[in-house]
Amino acid sequence: MLGLMQSQQLSISSLIDFAERHHGEGQIVSRRVEGDIHRYTYKECAARSRQLAKALDTLKVAFGERVASIAWNGYRHMEMYFGVSGSGRVLHTINPRMHPEQIAWVIGHAQDQVVCFDMSFLPIAKAIHAKCPSVRQWVALCDADKLPADTGIPGLASYEALLAAESGGYAWPEFDENTASSMCYTSGTTGNPKAALYSHRSTVLHAYAAALPDVMSLSARDSILPVVPMFHVNAWGIPYSAALTGAKLVFPGPGMDGKSIYDLIELEQVTYAAGVPTIWQMLLSHMEPNGLRFSSLKRTVIGGSACPPAMITAFNDKYGVEVLHAWGMTEMSPLGTLCTLKNKHLTMSEADKMKVRLKQGRCIYGVDMKIVDGNNNELPWDGKTYGDLLVKGPWVVREYFKGVGDTEAVKPLIDGWFPTGDVATIDADGYMQITDRSKDVIKSGGEWISSIDIENIAVAHPAVAMAACIGMRHPKWDERPIVAVVKKPGQELTREELLAFYAGKAAKWQVPDDVVFLDAIPLGATGKMQKTKLRDILKDYVLPDLR
Ligand code: AMP
Repeated sequence: MLGLMQSQQLSISSLIDFAERHHGEGQIVSRRVEGDIHRYTYKECAARSRQLAKALDTLKVAFGERVASIAWNGYRHMEMYFGVSGSGRVLHTINPRMHPEQIAWVIGHAQDQVVCFDMSFLPIAKAIHAKCPSVRQWVALCDADKLPADTGIPGLASYEALLAAESGGYAWPEFDENTASSMCYTSGTTGNPKAALYSHRSTVLHAYAAALPDVMSLSARDSILPVVPMFHVNAWGIPYSAALTGAKLVFPGPGMDGKSIYDLIELEQVTYAAGVPTIWQMLLSHMEPNGLRFSSLKRTVIGGSACPPAMITAFNDKYGVEVLHAWGMTEMSPLGTLCTLKNKHLTMSEADKMKVRLKQGRCIYGVDMKIVDGNNNELPWDGKTYGDLLVKGPWVVREYFKGVGDTEAVKPLIDGWFPTGDVATIDADGYMQITDRSKDVIKSGGEWISSIDIENIAVAHPAVAMAACIGMRHPKWDERPIVAVVKKPGQELTREELLAFYAGKAAKWQVPDDVVFLDAIPLGATGKMQKTKLRDILKDYVLPDLR
């Protein structure tokens, strides 16, 4: 017997319809590439998203065809989120920090028909347009009078001119909720990037889950600053969850430095922010020497890489901001776990609470996880045993998007579970802690050393700005850890001082064999440390006991 409730397909257009009707005056504030601050409401965003959908009709972009964005976080990008997907096309968000050759490759693989870019990325468009035969229309996300005349890009249009040419009403089409809505290519540290292809159903379910109190806890009373880019896993789904809750949205545009972020938080009375640790490091480095304080910020979600304890302490103790440590992946839309405490933790000492907060957290309803050994046997949840982390759920990929003529393996699942490539422990309360990416774990004398643990201790030293731990080949131990360190400006630190700092914080055999001081640690397109590049930089390095 079937239930007798109304059947309505879950759709991305329904999110912006809801925001327009029930939070029409809700604000969307954007720092623009043009340098100024732009303000409008959900009502205006919804109207312009529909105009964009009509413009895509005029351009004859068919249902299911891909429309790409190369853009910062801003209102026009938000309109693409709803106008492209809501009308049944697929939004392909491109990470502008990828190499131009790789951008051309993903455009070809996705067979993008239209590419819209912020003016700051005009040099990329100029460099690659001739190598992108699938693209029928290049669009600059700017006013008609700001369109440069001599770009060399045939038929380049201005976004505002395309929208201005449309008038009259538009009704969102209705279709199956499993229809593809957007796609995002993984960082692709080895080989060509692979794309996760999200659906309307997966996106709406994820938006619901993300807003829950023990997840991101978003509400109509929040002013949200997604610093995490809209080109990286849909800014962790925040644009969708914000429309679902009616929260105010504050977009930082290209201003990602500490001062710009701090000024925007204060100006727009941001209560809630989300980003990767490297961004928050820049913010703290701006605030500390200038003696600054927050007047509105209450909570921040930190994920994408392990959040160092020193950062949680700084936010919590010094600035009164609660840190929510989150873990996820492009292949998971991205949220998998979030670290919020349970009742039993509330009476614990601050030190014990911190041990919990450092973990990547517990599963969100909709995602299940397990850890397994090399033979795919499930391992115990004791907080000590580590194994390969596998996940499943309605917003986890089943297959990667297969491009034209693509012969790569695109079916990653093992018995219905997605192998994350992360190594983790899970404790008896269901809190997962990432030990490492499986390729970054350091195997020393038959034991595993977590590079994250070694890095966390280093960045707790007051003179250290950033640290990356990698394993070096060793004839006796197999591998031994060394730590590459960037000092804070004006700070002095010797190798011996930092190694002494490990005493009592790590077992003796886990203490790195050496410290290498660098001016910078290579960061990838999504702000994560690139250990493969670091290994290239240190390719002639020899461990002290082998010299
Ligand atoms: P991406 O698909 O680029 O977002 O990368 C996903 C990967 O980032 C995960 O598989 C983890 O290795 C890493 N990651 C994400 N969040 C965290 C976190 N909170 N702690 C440690 N690693 C993380």
